[in-house]
Amino acid sequence: MYLQQLSTPIGELKGVGPAIGKAFLHLGVSTYGQLLSHTPRGYENRKDPRPLVDMYQAHQGYCIVETVSQSYFGSGRKRTLKVLIRDESSPAALLCFGRNFLDRLLVPGRKFHLYGTFTVHRGELQCSQFDLEPFKEDESPKKFGSILPVYPLSEGLSQNTIRSAVKRAYGEAGKYLSDPLPAELLTRYGLLPHTMAIWHVHFPSSPQQATLALKSLAYYELFYLQLTMARRVRDRKQQMAESTSEARKISLRGPDCLASRLIASLPFDLTTDQIGALSSIEQDLQQPYPMMRLLQGDVGSGKTLTGFISMLGVIQAGRQCAFMAPTELLAKQHHTTATLYLEPLGIRTALLTGSVSTPERQRIVEELSRGQIDLLIGTHALFSQDVTFKDLGYVIIDEQQRFGVSQRLSLSRKGRAVHQLLMTATPIPRTLALTVFGDLDISTIKTMPPGRKSVITHLASIQNSHKVYKAVEVEFTRGHQAYFVYPKIEATAESQLKDVQSMYEYLSTSVYAGYRGELIHSRIPESRKIEIMEDFRGHRLDYLVSTSVVEVGVDVKNATCMVIEHAERFGLSALHQLRGRVGRSDLQSYAFLIYSDDLAEDAKRRLKVMKRTTDGFEIAEEDLIIRGPGEIQGRRQSGYLPLSFADLVRDVSLLSQAKEDAARLLEEDPELMAPEHRMVSEILEHYPLFQDDYIE
Ligand code: ADP
Ligand code: MG
Repeated sequence: MYLQQLSTPIGELKGVGPAIGKAFLHLGVSTYGQLLSHTPRGYENRKDPRPLVDMYQAHQGYCIVETVSQSYFGSGRKRTLKVLIRDESSPAALLCFGRNFLDRLLVPGRKFHLYGTFTVHRGELQCSQFDLEPFKEDESPKKFGSILPVYPLSEGLSQNTIRSAVKRAYGEAGKYLSDPLPAELLTRYGLLPHTMAIWHVHFPSSPQQATLALKSLAYYELFYLQLTMARRVRDRKQQMAESTSEARKISLRGPDCLASRLIASLPFDLTTDQIGALSSIEQDLQQPYPMMRLLQGDVGSGKTLTGFISMLGVIQAGRQCAFMAPTELLAKQHHTTATLYLEPLGIRTALLTGSVSTPERQRIVEELSRGQIDLLIGTHALFSQDVTFKDLGYVIIDEQQRFGVSQRLSLSRKGRAVHQLLMTATPIPRTLALTVFGDLDISTIKTMPPGRKSVITHLASIQNSHKVYKAVEVEFTRGHQAYFVYPKIEATAESQLKDVQSMYEYLSTSVYAGYRGELIHSRIPESRKIEIMEDFRGHRLDYLVSTSVVEVGVDVKNATCMVIEHAERFGLSALHQLRGRVGRSDLQSYAFLIYSDDLAEDAKRRLKVMKRTTDGFEIAEEDLIIRGPGEIQGRRQSGYLPLSFADLVRDVSLLSQAKEDAARLLEEDPELMAPEHRMVSEILEHYPLFQDDYIE
């Protein structure tokens, strides 16, 4: 039996009735297996007493203390018992809020085991939350003497309820589990056998043991994650794209190829990184199995163009391509670019979005299935059942983080052995690259096109917003344009936040009366939005007042100011994306992040990061640290990766280790036939830890 097979409902445990069962459900725990995987978030060490003086720093812990004297403070119903205590290292005070009855127990001169939370008030060490038990020389204590797990809680559950449920589940089932890891790996890393690891992660006999138990379980989890990924890569590579000789012909260089012709016709040179990415892509396309590559590069680094160029090889080989964008606005923009660059080469392109008229749509769908369209650009409309290709060979997904894995699959399944290029301006932190994206090859564009100036970022408090408006006006007088971004579309009674509609009123009448502005947000019809963007692009508008709809991909070179009000409301990756709307030419651009007063710690940190760097990679790493991996990318709204024991921030090196080990195992024993690997193959085939749609 393996942990994931323990599917007995916890309702069968003694002491877990319907109410407690329901409370457990809020924690995602409904089976024995999930209960045993409910990892403590910390421990209370009630085993190794520490001197009181340590509590000035530690703020929480176990001490053996002696009571010295009693007094009271406050009056009437608020009269509260205060007991002075001490040990050899320091005095301290227990404040017994609502517990004046302790006066009978805490008489001066007695000794106690005490676990408490301490604060320092005017130099005095004070403790108002505590648990205690009389100290007896010849008897071992009941509530002390061990290390207790502290679990994430939900309403209706107490630590003790969880502790005893876990103990029971372990006794009834947990202790009979088989080891899921080859013995050789346990020995190599000195990891604990599985059952021992499970027991000690909940009830360790020392802090070191708790750490080792958690490491053992985290390794086990990451090892299976990496194995799953590695096998996925292998399966893909076994899928033949075209006959080897056919693939060899695909080329992005050489005098006759379309790609070289396009590159030669550009008014600028490709950057080194663009060339590098293209050459990796070319190599991938020449393999006999489909490409699966992530192209990451900061906003404005020239990914789109790189993507288009790479498609030419496949089109020239006679196959069709699809280019998928997350919004209609972007799809339109890409289509305009494609028309500009590709149509002169005789490439037949089409744009398919939700607002294409029915007859037009019908024509596109027909031509597509007959092979009369080489490149189809569009939005989610491409997923639609009746959109079929004659021979789809290559799919590019722009802003890949906006799509679910299953959506992407549904597109690539419209062809056989389809090459895929995923593009993102939200770099994947290293840890995630090693996990969810372990199956991808990665190209990175780091160099910006020459002449780009790094965007200057100013932080301004809300009282200074008028100064920001002035600074923007200076840019208007130079013939440049600006974006203003707000967190809400319209004013509501509950909130004081500035919104698009009111601010548009205000800016257009009181601040920028002589300039042309427009507002744009998600409730404006798509066709109107596109008109507005066209006007902005054509400089028939000086500024846009908007929600974060301008966040993704919009490319207007003459826009040099990005003003984000209530910047503290936006996440790091949104701020970075928004800022990326400016600084797209050789003009100096500015971002103004206006914040409201009393910022939360997290928000302060985010703004400081934005001020400090424009490097998308650094920002993504910070984001991972501030938010935790669970929320990054939003590929699954909840539970990004179902990890119970491993932590993608804490366990980076363990993760690389597991990746190597998984690769080696598959190399030595590809079919997992060796007797010592039997459980590995059994788990992967029948009791997988990771379901398909979590990972590429
Ligand atoms: P991304 O998709 O990475 O945000 P784009 O491909 O939209 O970036 O490129 C941003 C702008 O830079 C586009 O207008 C594009 O034409 C231009 N561009 C791309 N590559 C270069 C280059 N090597 N030199 C100069 N400009 C470039
Ligand atoms: Mg782009």
